[in-house]
Amino acid sequence: VPALELRGVSKVYGSGDMAVAALSQVNVQLQAGQMAGLLGPSGAGKSTLLMMAGLLDEPTEGEVWLHGQLASGARATIGDHRAFRRACIGFVFQKPNLIPFLTGLENVLLALDINGQRGAPASARAMELLNYLEVAHRRDNLPSQLSGGEQQRIAIARALANRPPLLLADEPTAALDSQRGRQVMTLFQRVAKDTGAAVLVVTHDHRSLDLFDRIFEMDDGCLTERPGGSSRTGTE
Ligand code: ADP
Ligand code: ADP
Repeated sequence: VPALELRGVSKVYGSGDMAVAALSQVNVQLQAGQMAGLLGPSGAGKSTLLMMAGLLDEPTEGEVWLHGQLASGARATIGDHRAFRRACIGFVFQKPNLIPFLTGLENVLLALDINGQRGAPASARAMELLNYLEVAHRRDNLPSQLSGGEQQRIAIARALANRPPLLLADEPTAALDSQRGRQVMTLFQRVAKDTGAAVLVVTHDHRSLDLFDRIFEMDDGCLTERPGGSSRTGTE
């Protein structure tokens, strides 16, 4: 089953004369291990699509399926939305949004703690993640002592803490210079490959598009896929 599927998803904000159609009949499937990019001008509906996929808001019309389960609407089968979201979806935003008075390690431990993982196994998992994102040497530093790229790596470690099958990122490299941005984008690619998560990244960075398996473009609420996105299957 796809990690993420949107079926005929539309989203209208407001009503009457004030209504804004942010998404129009969006259909998309993302498979496990796929790294997908989402491009498009400001106001096109990219953030709205991430909110639907991340169960942060409900579509006006259509269905959101995660991991084979209906996750939207009154007939959703996922039970408690917050618990499901915590367990199954990782989020990374433009700003790392780390807790400022917690160290790098503690920020990751907190994400594990919220999902009931504590003690030695949680510490081992947190260190494994910091190693994986190449920020283990920053474990005892506060966010204010870290560079933007290092903060974002810790934010990614935190997002991966509970091994989510879906990772959503909204312009995660926008605040980084192009070299550090590409390094962080390469980490997302590695995450998709290593963990089998489906990764969906909103980005304006056209220089890193070669890292994506699939590239989608959003324009005025309509989603299209660029043909011939460098499909990983078959090329490795
Ligand atoms: P993007 O992320 O591509 O910049 P958004 O998804 O943020 O686009 O916005 C899509 C459209 O929906 C825009 O016209 C925006 O003004 C509108 N919009 C977004 N969020 C809201 C909201 N909470 N209330 C009303 N309109 C909104
Ligand atoms: P190995 O060489 O042991 O096969 P991998 O290539 O699988 O290692 O992973 C390299 C590093 O990334 C290891 O420290 C591993 O624990 C870590 N790692 C692998 N998968 C994940 C994951 N899903 N989340 C976080 N870290 C991971």
